[in-house]
Amino acid sequence: MASVKKDTTISEYQNFVREVYGLNNDRYFNTEGMLTQIQRFAMRALKGIRKNDREKTKLNLIISLNWLISLLNQLHIKLEDEIWRRFPYLCSYCATLPCSCAATHPAERKERVGNESKRPKTLAEFQIMFEKIYPIESRTLEHAGVHLAEELGEFFEAILLYRGQRKDKDFERIILEAADLFSCFMGIFNSIKVNYAEELVSLFSENCHICKKAPCECTFEHIMGFKF
Ligand SMILES: [Zn+2]
Ligand SMILES: [Zn+2]
Repeated sequence: MASVKKDTTISEYQNFVREVYGLNNDRYFNTEGMLTQIQRFAMRALKGIRKNDREKTKLNLIISLNWLISLLNQLHIKLEDEIWRRFPYLCSYCATLPCSCAATHPAERKERVGNESKRPKTLAEFQIMFEKIYPIESRTLEHAGVHLAEELGEFFEAILLYRGQRKDKDFERIILEAADLFSCFMGIFNSIKVNYAEELVSLFSENCHICKKAPCECTFEHIMGFKF
């Protein structure tokens, strides 16, 4: 039986998604198909923000992020190392803790020198790291939502560019944008005070959260019609 543990690492969670959803994803979805799913649930999460519906925001965000992980699995991108490379307990842009972009308006991205001893081990610790870098008092929930939409757009552009020309430098862009997008998911979870790892534990206590099988046996029709 596949399940997510409370002290899961990002890599372990990524492996869980592969074990449970890899087969269906590979058979049913190409890159664009998965992008559509990431977007579909992210937009429903934004609707949750607009309607002040925390539960709707939370659930849709979890499923959207789950699709992002599925897509990264298909592209063989290991997210955990990339997140640390992009956010080594510092803002990826101004390279300070907490982020000081709003006050200093740096014109370009600063070199980040991370301290390896501070590297979070678990997914929960990574979420805390993002709260330290981007404290929720520094922005509103709506602001965090707009930022997610913005980063989603940049991630889509990176994928479409790579799919057009298959250049290595464009693939590198996908990896960076994936890490940025992940940070925006964490930002919203922090704003609505959701412990993402704990939610995964309750949703994924036994294989697929719908059919309870590993690998997932949900039909294509069911997957396409599924919503919170
Ligand atoms: Zn910053
Ligand atoms: Zn299923």
